[in-house]
Amino acid sequence: MENLEKYYTEVDRDLLLIAEEYKKELLRIKKDGTLSKDLEGVLELVNGIPETVRKSALLSMEQEKGEIDMMERLQEGRENIYCPYCKIKWKVKILKEAINTLHGWGYDFVECSGCKKQFPNMIPNNWKDRKNFFQFMLERYTTVGEDGLTDAEKSGDLEKAKEYIQGFKKSLNAFKKADAAAKDLIIKNEEAYRAREVLRDHFLSLKLSLGNWKNNTGLA
Ligand SMILES: [Zn+2]
Repeated sequence: MENLEKYYTEVDRDLLLIAEEYKKELLRIKKDGTLSKDLEGVLELVNGIPETVRKSALLSMEQEKGEIDMMERLQEGRENIYCPYCKIKWKVKILKEAINTLHGWGYDFVECSGCKKQFPNMIPNNWKDRKNFFQFMLERYTTVGEDGLTDAEKSGDLEKAKEYIQGFKKSLNAFKKADAAAKDLIIKNEEAYRAREVLRDHFLSLKLSLGNWKNNTGLA
């Protein structure tokens, strides 16, 4: 079971406190007599608060996990690359970061763990620049230049070039999907937060209008 409390916001902690205090008070009133229809409705709302808070925390956790996952995948991609000397893909050590002066992309200067040779990794070292890089490469490989040829045609190995083009397209599609999913989660999280804020303010105003609460929760 995950520890969800670390994802609670101030609004969540307020809501849980409100739920606890309101429930106590409403049950006390109920014991002395009957609850009005309005207060029955309030009790129902109050009973649902812990679940609302739990679901919101799960959403925050999902967002955080997604961000960590993306960071780990990037790191793995930066450290496992094709060595132009060994002609295989394997572990490299990142020596320093630099900026590509032509495109402004951030990239790594690395050392191969096999042959110990140092070289720049052409693929950018962050997701945003990586996306731009793949877009740029796709355009270069498929756009006809002034000499009437595409880079794919000029590469001398059309089959290999076709493979690259497929690879660029696949990467760009994956970027698009990941971006959309991340954005969707952020929006959901923001909406859930605003809804809880409204709920808390609703309860606080309710408490003020009831006016006869014995317990001072310090929230109003
Ligand atoms: Zn090497």
